Amino acid sequence: MVIDLHTHSNASDGTDDPAAMPRLARAAGVDILGLTDHDTVAGWAAAGGAAPAAGVTLVRGMEFTTHFPVDPRRHPAGKSRVSVHLLGYLFNPAHPAIVTHIASMSHAREERAREIVDRLARDFPITWKIVQAHREPDAPIGRPHIADALVSVGVAANRSAVFRDILSSDSPYYVPMRSPHTTDAVRWIVAAGGKAVLAHPKALARGNFLDDAAIREIAAAGLFGIEVNHRDNPPELRPALADLARELDLAQFGASDYHGDGKPNRMGENYTSRAVYEQLRADNYLPVIVP
Ligand code: AMP
Ligand code: ZN
Ligand code: FE
Ligand code: FE
Repeated sequence: MVIDLHTHSNASDGTDDPAAMPRLARAAGVDILGLTDHDTVAGWAAAGGAAPAAGVTLVRGMEFTTHFPVDPRRHPAGKSRVSVHLLGYLFNPAHPAIVTHIASMSHAREERAREIVDRLARDFPITWKIVQAHREPDAPIGRPHIADALVSVGVAANRSAVFRDILSSDSPYYVPMRSPHTTDAVRWIVAAGGKAVLAHPKALARGNFLDDAAIREIAAAGLFGIEVNHRDNPPELRPALADLARELDLAQFGASDYHGDGKPNRMGENYTSRAVYEQLRADNYLPVIVP
């Protein structure tokens, strides 16, 4: 039984249609799939409709963009504010706090992407219109769409090259986006009848690294679990992260963070145990969709 609860479709910045995700999961040997697009639930209906025919169980989720202030003296890259990704599962998407988050992130992403594209347009043959051709209508816009546009005009070889260079977080073209405090988002997910899981908390290479004090504070807001086995958590940091999870009574997750062709991550490359899945699926606003 392979359980992969963190993936993206082109409802946000993945490259596959949400309706294709269950079939792709089945082909990758995944039995239970979580669809967790960034700041949108727009892919849920299509994925849910396709899951039974593919023989895949679907767990509806969303990856919330948030931020957490940290002590720069304790941060490996000296940051004072870390971009934190928080997975919410099986919550009521019509809860006012969720509706407000989705709307305000759509606005914040749009504003920030326009600023990035304005900066890029001074030096590269890129326009807002070209960028629009690289996202599905209404998909929350992010750097991946801008990266795909840069690739299409021959400025870079692929998405990952853009993230390493032109759009890395220390590039002059980079603009941060406004987002809520992580602990607020944890409370919204719980209030909406769902469960909150901290995504890739030790993502060192991307600078999205949380020290243990930060993780403790986020956990205290009502966290259910934490991703341990994720390719962005360096393997040497995982044993201590697992120890911290046990101490804080947090369920331990593993997941691929599949983005289709946009990233090398393959479905099922990391996975979650059956026992954690059974705890996750119990007592939420939404049920899982079973074949
Ligand atoms: P943003 O949230 O707009 O700053 O962009 C960061 C997002 O890009 C993260 O959620 C990543 O998952 C996503 N992403 C997609 N493809 C890539 C890639 N090839 N390299 C790095 N990040 C990527
Ligand atoms: Zn993404
Ligand atoms: Fe993420
Ligand atoms: Fe993700």
